[in-house]
Amino acid sequence: MGDVSDLDLAAGEFSAWLADMRAAIRSGGAMDVPCGTCTACCTGSQFVHVGPDETDALADIPAELLFPAPGLPDGHVVLGYDDRGHCPMLVDGRCSIYDHRPRTCRTYDCRVLVAAGFADDEDVPVEISRRATRWRFDHRGESARMEQAAVERAATFLADHPEALPPEAGRPSLTRLAALAIEVADLFVDAQPDVVGVRAALSAALAQMRDSSAWRR
Ligand code: SF4
Repeated sequence: MGDVSDLDLAAGEFSAWLADMRAAIRSGGAMDVPCGTCTACCTGSQFVHVGPDETDALADIPAELLFPAPGLPDGHVVLGYDDRGHCPMLVDGRCSIYDHRPRTCRTYDCRVLVAAGFADDEDVPVEISRRATRWRFDHRGESARMEQAAVERAATFLADHPEALPPEAGRPSLTRLAALAIEVADLFVDAQPDVVGVRAALSAALAQMRDSSAWRR
């Protein structure tokens, strides 16, 4: 592992993280993120999508805090935030519905922003950027470095070519763009694909995600 300062956070080995992240994006499963006491993603003025199948979360969140999710079918809702930018389910610095938190919260991992090279982008909420810029990945070898470089190239390509995004990708936040970049990064390992190829790969990837809306955050 490279040198880690007091402010740096060990993000883990990149290739292993990438495999877990890909599985979580596809399945909507939870990521094991070493958040410690950080609640940046709960206090960063984020709308949290909740799907109609998330009955546990929907039962625990007061109905008056939920609003129809723009651009999604009936039944999809979002949980908003208060005038400080805090999720209303955050009580005394902890998620009050942790065991039943929405899928969006379970899959969220701010290390995607690092992998994509977006961590210090001005469009990332400052609380999340402050945390994300501290992560440092470890690399098992040159192939792991090439994988990370490919994710970064894919993310830059998607940011520069919005026409590569199929309609079902929605209007992505940088977090969602980073997740989509992870899905198509293999195309960028030793080639520079064109817009048509990337768009087709994204359509195929979105079709395989259990609930791609979870990455709207
Ligand atoms: S539901 Fe819980 S984990 Fe999700 S943003 Fe709110 S406080 Fe954070």
